[in-house]
Amino acid sequence: MLDVARLRADFPLLAQRENGHPLVYLDNAATTQKPQAVLDAIAEYYRTTNANVHRGAYDLAIRATEAYEAARAKVAAFVNAWAPEGVVFTRGTTEAINLVAGSYGRASVKAGDSVVVTAMDHHSNLVPWQILCQEKGATLRMVEITEDGRIDLTDFGRALERRPKIVAFPYVSNALGTVNPAAQLTGLAHAVGAVVVVDGAQSTPHLNVDVQALDCDFYALSGHKMLGPMGSGALVAKPDVLEAMPPYHGGGEMISRVWDDHSTYNKIPHKFEAGTPNVEGAVGLAAAIRYLERIGPERIAEHEQALAAAAIERLSQIEGVTVYGPQARSDRAGVVSFTYGDIHPHDIATILDQDGICIRAGHHCTQPLMRRLNVAATARASFYLYNGSDDVDALAGALVKAGALFGYVPA
Ligand code: PLP
Repeated sequence: MLDVARLRADFPLLAQRENGHPLVYLDNAATTQKPQAVLDAIAEYYRTTNANVHRGAYDLAIRATEAYEAARAKVAAFVNAWAPEGVVFTRGTTEAINLVAGSYGRASVKAGDSVVVTAMDHHSNLVPWQILCQEKGATLRMVEITEDGRIDLTDFGRALERRPKIVAFPYVSNALGTVNPAAQLTGLAHAVGAVVVVDGAQSTPHLNVDVQALDCDFYALSGHKMLGPMGSGALVAKPDVLEAMPPYHGGGEMISRVWDDHSTYNKIPHKFEAGTPNVEGAVGLAAAIRYLERIGPERIAEHEQALAAAAIERLSQIEGVTVYGPQARSDRAGVVSFTYGDIHPHDIATILDQDGICIRAGHHCTQPLMRRLNVAATARASFYLYNGSDDVDALAGALVKAGALFGYVPA
């Protein structure tokens, strides 16, 4: 286990009390808290380096550009990207996937083609494909999940028989915690000629990600879910695939030459970064990555898996609690989704909040998945490196109290 007390001291917000109790922050799949190192990097950037990037002839602007491009190289190295120019900064996973759908998808998908997604995809990796397929007259094929919350490989194989143009799936499910066999799925999709889009919003903060080993074509990530600032993130892509794509947004910075009626475009990645970028976000994200690297992604993954396993064990002992997703510890990340009898998940979250415990309740932007689980919503506790077994104790204790408060009587 990680030295949680020492790590917590790095996160000013975690010292806060909520509703008179020490804060127990268990909503890390939604967003993570920021260490002082990230806050300092952002403040330092504004104190010493701020200027617009890529266009200034003066030293300050050159230093701002260097900081921005160094952040790109940092992101590239963290996920073992093919090259820094294959990293396009975006506002997060949602924008990265919309970029792929709006550029690559629009250029390559035609009427009658198919695009494959899964029943556990976040709306961010579903709605952009719905929009694309509706526009093109293509078919969107949703692969089913198994009883224990994995991608159904038999159905995945059936979906591939149609030789889809694009296959998209999450590396880690935000609602079930399932760690999907991303390299295997990518290999199967490539074998039928599909291009592969991996939603890495939940995997990048928690696993040792190697996009070259996965061999996917596109990989999307969110900075705010990995200790970085809100509004930071990236699309990581194979440079040759990115090079061949038409622009996504038009404007400054993404052009080479502009005439009255047409333009030529900048090199990648700048072709996909129209307008003034979020330099502060990139600098903060690089600081977050430095922080994560000091601890080590493997140790973080192990720590979260242990916490999730402990939470599942404790919750399973409470009569009436149902935990969703794979039971095997090795197949899941630090996300524990559950229901408690017929108590509404929102009520559970509200009661836990009174004890200073922050969990998520709702459909987690996975409504198709909720329908398959036959629930409208679940409660979700999601762990990160600064959580410890005391947080698991607090969660389990507060749940028992919530059950009593709602007069829950086991059937
Ligand atoms: N995909 C998954 C699996 C997620 O969990 C999330 C956020 O919860 C997203 C995509 C969207 O990420 P963002 O809101 O940072 O764009």
